[in-house]
Amino acid sequence: MSTQAETKQFQAETRKVLDIVINSLYTERDIFVRELVSNASDALEKFRHLSLTEQPEFDAHVPLEINLDCDDKKHTLTITDTGVGMTAEELEENLGTIAHSGSGKFVEELAEAAKKDVSLIGQFGVGFYSAFMAAKTVTVQTRSWDGSNGHEWHSDGNGSYTISPCDGLHRGTKIIIELKDDAEEYGQKFTLERIIKQYSTFIPFPVKVEGNKVNTVEAIWSRSKSEITDEEYSEFYKFVGNAYDEPTFRLHFAADAPLAINALLFVPKDNFENLGMGRMDPGVNLYCQKVLIDQHSKSILPEWLRFIKGVVDSEDLPLNISRQSLQDNALVMKLRKVITKRFLKYMTEEAKKDSEKYLTFWKTFGIFIKEGVTSDFEYQKELAPLLRFESSATEAGSMTSLQEYVDRMAEGQEEIYYINGPSRGAIENGPYVEMFKKRDIEILYTLEPIDDFVLSHLGEFDGKKLLSADRADLRLPESTEKDEQAQDDASGEEKLAEAVQTSLCKWMKEILGEKVKEVKSSTRLVDSPAMIVNADGYMTSSMERILAAQGKSGQDNPMAMSGKKEMEINPANSLIKKMADLRTKDQDFAKDVAEQIYDNAMIQAGLLVDPQEMVNRNYRILERMSA
Ligand code: ADP
Ligand code: MG
Repeated sequence: MSTQAETKQFQAETRKVLDIVINSLYTERDIFVRELVSNASDALEKFRHLSLTEQPEFDAHVPLEINLDCDDKKHTLTITDTGVGMTAEELEENLGTIAHSGSGKFVEELAEAAKKDVSLIGQFGVGFYSAFMAAKTVTVQTRSWDGSNGHEWHSDGNGSYTISPCDGLHRGTKIIIELKDDAEEYGQKFTLERIIKQYSTFIPFPVKVEGNKVNTVEAIWSRSKSEITDEEYSEFYKFVGNAYDEPTFRLHFAADAPLAINALLFVPKDNFENLGMGRMDPGVNLYCQKVLIDQHSKSILPEWLRFIKGVVDSEDLPLNISRQSLQDNALVMKLRKVITKRFLKYMTEEAKKDSEKYLTFWKTFGIFIKEGVTSDFEYQKELAPLLRFESSATEAGSMTSLQEYVDRMAEGQEEIYYINGPSRGAIENGPYVEMFKKRDIEILYTLEPIDDFVLSHLGEFDGKKLLSADRADLRLPESTEKDEQAQDDASGEEKLAEAVQTSLCKWMKEILGEKVKEVKSSTRLVDSPAMIVNADGYMTSSMERILAAQGKSGQDNPMAMSGKKEMEINPANSLIKKMADLRTKDQDFAKDVAEQIYDNAMIQAGLLVDPQEMVNRNYRILERMSA
């Protein structure tokens, strides 16, 4: 082994991160202390867990703690932990590169976030590199728990670093920071004490500044609710979630049966996935008797609850369980089920208590609830009451639950109706809601394309089928006599004779060919001449749109749904009546009109038409102006 220092270049992405950290984030300098202390705590947690599974022998007696020491004359700050430490390979891997997959994108997102809101960087785990906000140079001396030789890493943050062997180290890591001239305050005891008290109270190991312990080292989740103040909860949230905002909901509960559980869960204010930061890691840590078993656990909650931050502690888990075996551990699965159901029940109750507050949650995190419905059959029943949609009975922008819809249903209505569209206005002016409006039947407006997947996955609510209004087989509830009366009074329009209707439909089908399965007279249209409906009971137009965008369907695809489409025409509509007449006089012109009506109906369904063909036809029709 060479005793020379080896000089290495930072990975290109790392250099960019360093550049951002040093130049844009220095207004929030305190966070570097928090980041380094939290790394020290992570390393100690790892060791504590390892010592249960591996029985390490090297330096086994060294107490688990974090020490901060400063020298106000030399202007240095030293942070020492007795955690797992790092081997030379780990040093290079962890402190020379950005371990994120797709790190190029990561750096771009980080740069964006740094511009928008400095507090977002915590979410990125730039962690260690934040030391360079305050450091002229950083030296890391570390020795792994496995007892292999120690090493020293050194850098001034300008492009390169060195790694050299270092003798005489105990297990763990020492980080020595030579402070910049304008960062000398971090060489003072009271500054460090202030920062630890502010950010690191909940570190589960003693944190000592110049030998004096400054934190309390206790597991807040195991204390009784009545003893914990809102401030403490909020501080713990910030600690555990690496967050800077305030939590909007919190659920703290303990149970003994069927499993011993202590859980403290928080809903954050912001959805970081919405802020364009890629997929979040899960935010709940799994403990057993206050020992961290699995940080950011993928096992303890379903994936679609990854926005929740907090802690789950269960005494029933075997302490020496390995992280790998958590995934398919029967006990963990049981825990997950109990906690998930408990959380969903809690949110349902909160929604009842304060619907406005819940709506804010829904607007931020509803997408995760929808993800749950479409990806996780197990919790559909618990998730359904949390869904919210606009509807014909709500004001623009406000929303209804499925339960409220059901409560408003008139006698005789057995089903729940919905229709997708790009906006409330587009839906309300489109053909699908005409009969609903006229008959005063409530219809949900699903404004997001994914909503139709959600509702068709759900299938029913409270025993009532959920049906899209663009289904071909949709039958509205039997109309009452009063309705019939109103209908006759209102329309007043003479319908085409039955025989004419039949032959007109047949003729249109011939013209449209394979584009439609059938052309039928509508009983649902009031004003519009025509509409497209889906014969496939599962697929709605909005779902087809998504599949088309993904290249899974669409016009070029022989398997496309178009074979399953039907067109309904309105036999009382004046345009349809004129077309029936025109057929006998000017076949070519009538054919253009029929095709144009079809294209228009497709557009109203949000589906694609061939624009060039349509424009040419349109001009041919406009040509008639002078005639
Ligand atoms: P993160 O903590 O989000 O992983 P950091 O940049 O803070 O990112 O740290 C990078 C990695 O360096 C850590 O994941 C860890 O493997 C290693 N590391 C940092 N500090 C220490 C330490 N005090 N002891 C052991 N390993 C550490
Ligand atoms: Mg870190």
